[in-house]
Amino acid sequence: MKTAEIMANLAAKHPGENEYLQAVQEVLESIEEVYNQHPEFEKAKIVERMVEPDRIFTFRVTWVDDKGQVQTNLGYRIQFNSAIGPYKGGLRFHKAVVPSMLKFLGFEQTFKNALTTLPMGGAKGGSDFDPVGKSNDEIMRFCQAFMTELWQCIGPDQDIPAGDVGVGGREIGYLYGMYKKLAREYNTGVLTGKGATWGGSILRPEATGFGALYFTQHLLHKAGKDIAGKKVALSGFGNVAWGAATKAKELGAKVVAISGPDGVCEIPEGITDEMIAYMLEMRASNRNKVEDMATKFPGKAKFTAGKKAWSIPCDIALPCAFQNELSEDDAKELQKNGCWCCCEVSNMGCQPGAIHYFQNNGILFAPGKAVNAGGVATSGLEMTQNASHISWSAKEVDEKLHFIMESIHEQCVKYGTQPDGHIDYVKGANIAGFMKVATAMLEQGII
Ligand code: GLU
Repeated sequence: MKTAEIMANLAAKHPGENEYLQAVQEVLESIEEVYNQHPEFEKAKIVERMVEPDRIFTFRVTWVDDKGQVQTNLGYRIQFNSAIGPYKGGLRFHKAVVPSMLKFLGFEQTFKNALTTLPMGGAKGGSDFDPVGKSNDEIMRFCQAFMTELWQCIGPDQDIPAGDVGVGGREIGYLYGMYKKLAREYNTGVLTGKGATWGGSILRPEATGFGALYFTQHLLHKAGKDIAGKKVALSGFGNVAWGAATKAKELGAKVVAISGPDGVCEIPEGITDEMIAYMLEMRASNRNKVEDMATKFPGKAKFTAGKKAWSIPCDIALPCAFQNELSEDDAKELQKNGCWCCCEVSNMGCQPGAIHYFQNNGILFAPGKAVNAGGVATSGLEMTQNASHISWSAKEVDEKLHFIMESIHEQCVKYGTQPDGHIDYVKGANIAGFMKVATAMLEQGII
C-alpha cells in the first residue's frame, strides 16, 4: 500500500478537510503492514474504496426562532460504508459541523461498528445548528424541520441514526415524532436512543460511559492494575461524561475534574451522586457552562476559567467531549502531574502528537473507536429489541454490553500485541475493524 500516495490523492479531492484526513491517516498507518500481506485487498483497491463515503446527502433546514425570525442551517447525512450491515451512526448538532467533521466521524464509525461484533455499517450526520442558548421549543422546531429532509434517507433496515454531541433523548423524541408523521411508518427501530416507554433500550443513555469504563477496567487488569481508588479527570459534562462519571464512581474511582468550554471544575474530594445528577440538568439547560457546577456546589467544586481537565493531577485521563481536545502539551502536563493512563472516550479526542507522546512515554493509551463503542453497541441491542418487539431488562443489556466490551478488548489484544509483548491498542483496534470490513467488501465484489 502506498499510504503517502493515497493520502495525497485524498487531500487533492477533499482539500482542507483536515479532521477527515487525520482520521484516515491514523488508520492507514496502523494497517499498512497487514494490508501488504494481502495482495487480494490491493487488487480490489479496498483501501481506495473504503476511505470514500458511499454517499452524502446535504440539505437546507429552515425553521422559525422564538422571536419569529427565520433561521436557515445546513443538514447532512453521510452514509459511509454498508459492507457489514445497514448504515448506523449518530447525528451531531454543533455550530462547527462541516462535511469534514462528519466524514471523519463516519469513517471512524465504520471501524468502531465493526468492532462491536454486531452487523452495522457506518454513517454520521448532523447540522451546524447551535443548541447553546436555544429554548426547548426552538430545539423542537429545529428537529422537526431537520427531519422533513432526513426521513427520505433513513429506514430501520437502511440507515439508523442516533444521538451524538448536541443530540440526546429529547432531540431523538422530536425527530421520531416528525419521522412517524412524514413516513407513516411506526417502526421505532429507525432511530436509537429513544425514550424508555417507546422502544428505547434500558441503559442506552448510560452505555457509552459505562462501556468506556468496562473497557478501561479490562485494559488496567491486563496491565496488572485496577481503577479502585484512582483519581480520574474527565472532560465534558454531557451524556458521555455523565455515564463515565457514574460508572467510575461505582467502581471506586475518585472523579476529581470535569470541564466545559468555559473552563474546569476541580473536585478534590471526588464527584458525588448529587453532582452527577446535576450534570444532566446542566446539559438540559443548553447553557454549556461547567461553572454552573461550582455555583451549585460551592466549596466542593472549584471553577477555573480557561483551563482544561488535563491541568488537574490524576492517574487516569478520560477525554469525553470533542475531537482533538487533548494536545501534545496537555499529554506532557498530564504526565508531569502523575497521569499514567488515558482512555479516549470522545471520537478522536487526542491529537496525533498526544497519542505518540503517550505511546512513546509508557502511558497506557486506547483509542475512542474501541473505548466508546459501547454506545453504538447498545444502539445495536436496541435495534434487536425493536425488531423482535421485546424489551430486555437492565441486567440483560448490561451483561451483553459487558460481553461486547470484553470482546473488543480481546480483538485489540489479538491484533495489537507487538513482538516485544506490549499492546498497541491503536493498531489493534484499527486492524481488527479493518480486517472485518475489508473481508466483507472483498466477498461482495467490486461495487
Ligand atoms: N454517536 C455515537 C458514536 O459516536 C453513537 C452512535 C449510535 O448509537 O448510532 O458512536
